[in-house]
Amino acid sequence: MTIDDISDRHKHPNPEVNILETTASKPALILIVDDDLFMRKILVRYLERENYRVVEAADGMEALKLYQERQPDMILLDAMMPVLDGFECCSRLQQLPNGDHTPVLIITALEDRESVDRAYEVGASDYVTKPIHWAVLRQRVRRLLEQANLREQLEAANQRLAVVVKELQRLVAIDGLTQVANRRHLDAYLEQECSRANREQIPISLVLCDIDFFKNYNDNYGHQEGDLCLQQVAQAIGKATNRPADLVARYGGEEFAIVLPNTDIEGGMNVAIRANEIIRSLKLPHNHSKVANHVTISCGVATLLPSQNFQAINLLKAADRALYVAKADGRNCVRQSDLVED
Ligand code: GH3
Ligand code: MG
Ligand code: MG
Repeated sequence: MTIDDISDRHKHPNPEVNILETTASKPALILIVDDDLFMRKILVRYLERENYRVVEAADGMEALKLYQERQPDMILLDAMMPVLDGFECCSRLQQLPNGDHTPVLIITALEDRESVDRAYEVGASDYVTKPIHWAVLRQRVRRLLEQANLREQLEAANQRLAVVVKELQRLVAIDGLTQVANRRHLDAYLEQECSRANREQIPISLVLCDIDFFKNYNDNYGHQEGDLCLQQVAQAIGKATNRPADLVARYGGEEFAIVLPNTDIEGGMNVAIRANEIIRSLKLPHNHSKVANHVTISCGVATLLPSQNFQAINLLKAADRALYVAKADGRNCVRQSDLVED
């Protein structure tokens, strides 16, 4: 029986279907490693007949070198070779980049339990025995390439999924209109940072900002202009903060919150005053405000100090009371809370 006979007998009737392609354009590349020249040539011929691309190595060292140069899609590896045998070669392959993802089919004359166990131990995907049963070899090669292909597709899909999940996580935490954090994220962040402040015994401040006479703004300029104004105010408030841990969020309609971890009342007041000034300097026309002819905000600031009751709700209530005072004191100003209730 010639190699041509072997090949023809097991060939798929439709050669088009027979090409197992790893990419859209190229047939899979198989690295054949065998010290026996005759055996190697038969394998090369057979796999070429099966429409694979092949590259051959005569020993384990050459195989490792070729693997790195050519990055084959799978490896057909003779177990018994001088210098570096198939088991050792397979074991070293696992350490190379992508080596543990490239299927290795070990060819062994030994079907004793020990060498079969060893083949799997060193990372082989499967084995075939000599003399080669060509129909078995053909199917194992196909199956291993298919599996590797599927694994690659799965990995790519997982990567795409991770990107989508990340984007979803971002979207879930963001206010669609103003692109700052939303109320859900604010609540979670405030809880988290209050707990941290309690654990580490450090202060935490909160600023609540509310646009003055914003109902009048909407009533006179229209809701769409009102939305644009909210976007500008949100971005401007963001400029009042400096530290990575500071968080600006939309608290509700035309109210914004600034969480300031590890910040005392003085620091909180500074940020609030800065926010107030930045908004004022935008000079967004507001001819229906009773405090200025442009958009202004009022701010309430509160701080939880170590030893106080570190509950987010207390901080929120205190900042809200301070905001109420700022409104009562004429708006377009900043007030701090005297005391956070225990
Ligand atoms: P004050 O100075 O006391 O804060 O008065 P105000 O008019 O700003 O406060 P009030 O709470 O009476 O009105 C808030 C207004 O904010 C009501 C609503 O028209 C407006 N508003 C709330 N959410 C949105 C929004 O998403 N888009 C727009 N355009 N307006 C909103
Ligand atoms: Mg309000
Ligand atoms: Mg308001």
